[in-house]
Amino acid sequence: MGVSVACRLCGEPLTRTFVDLGMSPPCESYLRADQLDSGETFYPLHVRICDNCLLVQLPAYVAADDVFSDYLYFSSYSTSWVEHARRFVVDMQERLDLGAESLIVEAASNDGYLLQHAVALGIPVLGIEPAGNIAAIANEKGIRTESYFLGEETGTDAAARHGRADLVVGNNVFAHVPDIVDFAKGLRALVKDDGLVSLEFPHLLRLIERRQYDTIYHEHYQYLTLKTAALALEKAGLKVVDVQELASHGGSLRLMSQPMDAPAATAGEPSELVLKVLQDEADAGLHTVEGHAGFAREVFTIKAELLEFLVQAQRAGKSVAGYGAPGKGNTLLNHCGIREDLLAFTVDRSPHKHGMFLPGTHIPIHAPERLAEARPDYIVILPWNLREEIVHQLAYAREWGAKFVVPIPRLEVI
Ligand SMILES: [Zn+2]
Repeated sequence: MGVSVACRLCGEPLTRTFVDLGMSPPCESYLRADQLDSGETFYPLHVRICDNCLLVQLPAYVAADDVFSDYLYFSSYSTSWVEHARRFVVDMQERLDLGAESLIVEAASNDGYLLQHAVALGIPVLGIEPAGNIAAIANEKGIRTESYFLGEETGTDAAARHGRADLVVGNNVFAHVPDIVDFAKGLRALVKDDGLVSLEFPHLLRLIERRQYDTIYHEHYQYLTLKTAALALEKAGLKVVDVQELASHGGSLRLMSQPMDAPAATAGEPSELVLKVLQDEADAGLHTVEGHAGFAREVFTIKAELLEFLVQAQRAGKSVAGYGAPGKGNTLLNHCGIREDLLAFTVDRSPHKHGMFLPGTHIPIHAPERLAEARPDYIVILPWNLREEIVHQLAYAREWGAKFVVPIPRLEVI
């Protein structure tokens, strides 16, 4: 597979590095014991920034079909995420006065975690979910779902068959599509001229500010600001009219946009909040290429602090285990070169992962009970977004004197 060195938003050559995390296997490719003696494919995690349009992007080293066509992640497994979706649907029903004559379309609708709430309110829905196994589960639950990647062609085709939608939703998908402009054109094809497109994605401003470099992995093809997201939408005839800042995924934006390229288009002036978020980005330096320059140094500091800690613990004869086996943990561990020598094992609540090994680093994954048996001196928390919850859950480890280690945003021993 050839890798394009042109910016996927404006076509200019990509010559500048945002951060280079070296080589890593795809972060969800957990290994069985019988795979440990085989070769493993590593791909670059070399993130670039476009000098011209400022889009921060990872070239499509791994094809989307390989990542998403049989995806293991089920959105409904997280109760807080399902509740987040329910509140959104109720708000939108009120704001747009949606009912039995309306249509909501969701791109990357997963197992229907969001659209199920619209179905419950009697609003017709269409889900578009590339992973066939997950689309099948949604259909079994009575949530009409079709299986393909959204782009201009498939969006136009779906609109011809089902009519255009009052509301088109895309949550945690805008960063995950290698051809962001074609995807945006698909959104435009699906929405009525006076309809609304709502997109949620992690905000690059927060990623940089909170040093969440481990959220960089092959499934995330771009790292968006309001400015660059608006530019991608504009190329598809959509204008950003409103924004909300959300706490999800370490700090996300919810962008509302409307068609601007049709006689019946009703997009007004952007809200005050749009101007405020743009100003915050400008104040943080993110509207210039130079303003992105310090991040690579911050990343090195995290790596150096974590390695220093682990090497010292090892020399002092202390034992160290991990908690969690999230995708982001694999970026961190591979980037830092941490294997069983520095982190004996990790534990995870998901039974699907027990007995498996982390990609690249081959650190074994056990059930959480293993902690009480092994009684490690330190427990490194890999999903930092859940640190409060995990420290609370593992309070029993204090009995044998264990301490918790959180590497991001800066190394902390608690
Ligand atoms: Zn560009």
